[in-house]
Amino acid sequence: MAITDPAITSCLDLAQQLAATEQLRVQARIFERNEQAVVVTDNDERILASNQAFTRLTGYASGEVLGKTAAILLTQGERSLLRAKICDGLGSDGEWSGELDFRRANGDALPVWAVIVAARDPDGKAGSYWLVFSDMTERKESERQIYRLAYYDSLTALPNRDLFRLLLDKLLSAAQRRHTHVAVLFLDLDRFKHIVDSFGHTQADSILQEVSSRLAATLREQDIVARLGGDEFVVALPDLIRREQAGQVARKVLARLAEPFFLERHEILLSASIGISVFPEDGRDTESLLKNAEVAMYRAKKRGSNSPVFYSQEMNQRSFEQLKLEGGLRRASERGEFHLVYQPQLDLVSGCITGAEALLRWQHPDHGLIPPAEFIPVAEETGLINPIGEWVIDTACRQIREWQDSGLPGVRVAVNLSASQFSASLPKKVVGIITRHGIPSDSLDLEITESMLMHSADSVVAMMRAFGAAGVLMTLDDFGTGYSSLSYLKRFPIDHLKIDQSFVRGIPGDRDDSAIARAIIGMAQHLRLSVIAEGVETASQMEFLRGAGCDGIQGYYFSRPLVAGDFAELLLQTNQ
Ligand code: C2E
Ligand code: MG
Ligand code: MG
Repeated sequence: MAITDPAITSCLDLAQQLAATEQLRVQARIFERNEQAVVVTDNDERILASNQAFTRLTGYASGEVLGKTAAILLTQGERSLLRAKICDGLGSDGEWSGELDFRRANGDALPVWAVIVAARDPDGKAGSYWLVFSDMTERKESERQIYRLAYYDSLTALPNRDLFRLLLDKLLSAAQRRHTHVAVLFLDLDRFKHIVDSFGHTQADSILQEVSSRLAATLREQDIVARLGGDEFVVALPDLIRREQAGQVARKVLARLAEPFFLERHEILLSASIGISVFPEDGRDTESLLKNAEVAMYRAKKRGSNSPVFYSQEMNQRSFEQLKLEGGLRRASERGEFHLVYQPQLDLVSGCITGAEALLRWQHPDHGLIPPAEFIPVAEETGLINPIGEWVIDTACRQIREWQDSGLPGVRVAVNLSASQFSASLPKKVVGIITRHGIPSDSLDLEITESMLMHSADSVVAMMRAFGAAGVLMTLDDFGTGYSSLSYLKRFPIDHLKIDQSFVRGIPGDRDDSAIARAIIGMAQHLRLSVIAEGVETASQMEFLRGAGCDGIQGYYFSRPLVAGDFAELLLQTNQ
C-alpha cells in the first residue's frame, strides 16, 4: 500500500535524514579515529581533511596542512616520480598502492605503505583523492637488519660470502660484455690459529678488524672485499686488462699486511697467503673462480714465500689428494690405523736409556706409512689433532704402565703437543689420563715448541704452571729455531731443552753450528735445565756433544724410533 499521508511522509523523510546524519557522524568518527593516517585532497591534490593519525605520524597539525598540496609530504625529487607512478597505477579501477618515502614536518624520513583511491564524480571524473598510509619505519629497519645479518659479516662489516657471490656475478656479466678480466684473490692469514691460541678470541678479532680495514685502504673503490669467515678474506678486482695486474695488487696487499700489528704491548708480525684465479681463463662462474683461487691459496701457503700464486689446472689434482688425506685422517682412529713408535734417549753420563720420545705413525691401508710431517699439519688445520693428540697421550701412558708392570726400569716418555691442543682444560685432561693408568706423573714429558711460547700469553703460562704443579715434565722441542731469549725462558717451568736437529747436523765440522750448540748447552746449564740433542747420527756428533756438557742424545746413531716391544728389549739390554 502506497503511503499518501503527508504527515507520515515527512516523518519518514525526517527519519531518513536523521539516519543519514548519524551515518555521516559514524563515518567521521571512523575517519578521525582510524589507526592509519588518512588525507582527503581535491582534484589538484589540495588537502581538504586529515585525521589524528596523520598528525601523529607526520607532525603536521590538521589546520596547518589544510589547503596545501599533499606534495609537502614528499621531497622535491620524489614529487614528479610519484605523480608518474600514480598516473600509471590509477587506471580504470582508480586505485594505487605501494611504498612511498615521505618526510615528516621536521624533515625526518618517513617510509610508508600508501593506498590512494580516486573518488569519482557522478560523471566519472575524479573529484577527490583519498590517501591512506601507515608507518613502515620499523618494518624497514628490521628488513635492513635482516639484510645486514644475511649479507654482512658482523665482526668486520664487510660483505659475507653470499653477498660476495652476488656482487661477483654482476662483475662477471659486465666483464663478459666488455671483454675484460676479473681476478679473485683468496686470502688466508698464516698461523692465525696461533694468535687465537695465544691471545684469545677477543684480541684475535681486533686483528681481523684491522686486517679488513687495511684491505679496504689498499684497494680501489670498485674492488670488492669480503670476509668468508675465520681468517679467510676474498677480493674481486674488476676491469683488469692484463692478468699480471692482479699479481701487483696481491703483492701490495701482502706488503700492507706485513706491517706490524699491535696487541696490548706486543708487536705482532703477520703474513698471509694469497691465491689468484682470473676470469675467464680460470673459471667462467663465481663458484669455480672461488674454488680455484682457494686451491691456489693452499699452494701459496705450502710455499710460504709470501708471494701470491696464480691458479693453474694441475693444482686441482693435488688439492683433491689433500681432501682425500683429510677424509682418511677422520677415519684413521676408528680403524686403528695409528700407532706409536718410541725413540730412546740416551744419558751421556750414565750410558743408560732414561727416556723415549713417542712418535705418531699412520699406517694407511692404501698409501702405506704416511710421515707425521704430512698429516699432522692437516690434523691441525682441521682440528682433528685434538682427539688424535688425546689418543697419543692415552696410548703413551698405557704403555708406560705396561712396561712398569712387566718390571722394566722406569723411563719417562715424551709426547709432542700441538699449539692447537692448548686449552685451559688440557692439564685436567692429562692428569685424568695419568691417574687412570696409575703411573707417576713425572713419567710423562710434554714436548712443546718455542713458537708456542712466543707470545707468552698468560693463559699459556698458567697452563704450564698447572702441569708443573701436577708434576708433569716439560721439554722445549726444536730449540734454536724460534726466538726465545734467556730471560724469556725463565718465565716457564721447563725441565729439558732439546737442541734442534738443524744445529746438530753440522757439528763438529760446521763452526757456526758447533758454536750455537755449545751456547745452547751453556745457557741451559745456567738455567739448570737438562739438554738433549736430537737427530744425532754419528759418533763424532755424540762425542762433541758429550764434551760440550750435553746431558743426553736422541738419534739414529743410537737408535731409530722402535715399536714398543723392540724398545723394551733395547731398554733391558742397555740398562742392566
Ligand atoms: P720432532 O718432535 O722434532 O721429532 C723428531 C723427529 O726427528 C722424528 O721425526 C724422528 O723420527 C726424527 N729423527 C730422530 N732421530 C733422527 C736422526 O738421527 N736423523 C734424522 N734425520 N731424523 C731423526 P718424525 O717421527 O717423522 O716426526 C716429525 C715431527 O712430527 C716431530 O718432530 C713432531 O713435531 C711431529 N710429531 C710426531 N708425532 C707427533 C704427535 O704425536 N703429536 C704431534 N703434535 N706431533 C707429532
Ligand atoms: Mg718432539
Ligand atoms: Mg724436535
